[in-house]
Amino acid sequence: MRAEPEAGRGPAAGAPVPAPLLRAVFAHAAAAYPRECCGLLLGPRHGALDEVRQCANAQDRYHEADAGTFPRDARSAFTLGVDDIRALAASLDGPRPARVLYHSHVDAPARFSAEDERLALLGGEAPAWPLLHLVVEVRAGVALGAALHEWDPARRRFREAGRFTGTVQDWTACSTGAAQD
Ligand SMILES: [Zn+2]
Repeated sequence: MRAEPEAGRGPAAGAPVPAPLLRAVFAHAAAAYPRECCGLLLGPRHGALDEVRQCANAQDRYHEADAGTFPRDARSAFTLGVDDIRALAASLDGPRPARVLYHSHVDAPARFSAEDERLALLGGEAPAWPLLHLVVEVRAGVALGAALHEWDPARRRFREAGRFTGTVQDWTACSTGAAQD
């Protein structure tokens, strides 16, 4: 059954990622298949997220230049390019900071992987950026769901903070782990 997200219903109600943005992220993930997509969600510092910034997955470029250092290509990894990293860094001090970094997993679950954690920590003991991480599961070109991950400072690792299920064509199935209703 086709259903459009409505105000006050579905994942927009109390969810950290408003439904229209999640739809845009799912569409980006489906279009990028069989490669991983990546991007940022931004919004006013004291308001809801309201913008999707699609980023280019630079992983293929790095892999082609140096497969020894970058053994994975964009089918199983993502890397932000220099321009996108600069934009991310600049946004954090501005009025519209990036708050979520999203990427897709190709024919794999929306679980935060060891590689994802390594990338988020950039070799440090805590995340390099103050971001939530949204991972989208795409199978056969269809975005099936996504999970949001946050840093747990007590356990010093990432944990799942919310889960969205349902395809873009079936929004009524959407829910989050922190649903209000
Ligand atoms: Zn990943």
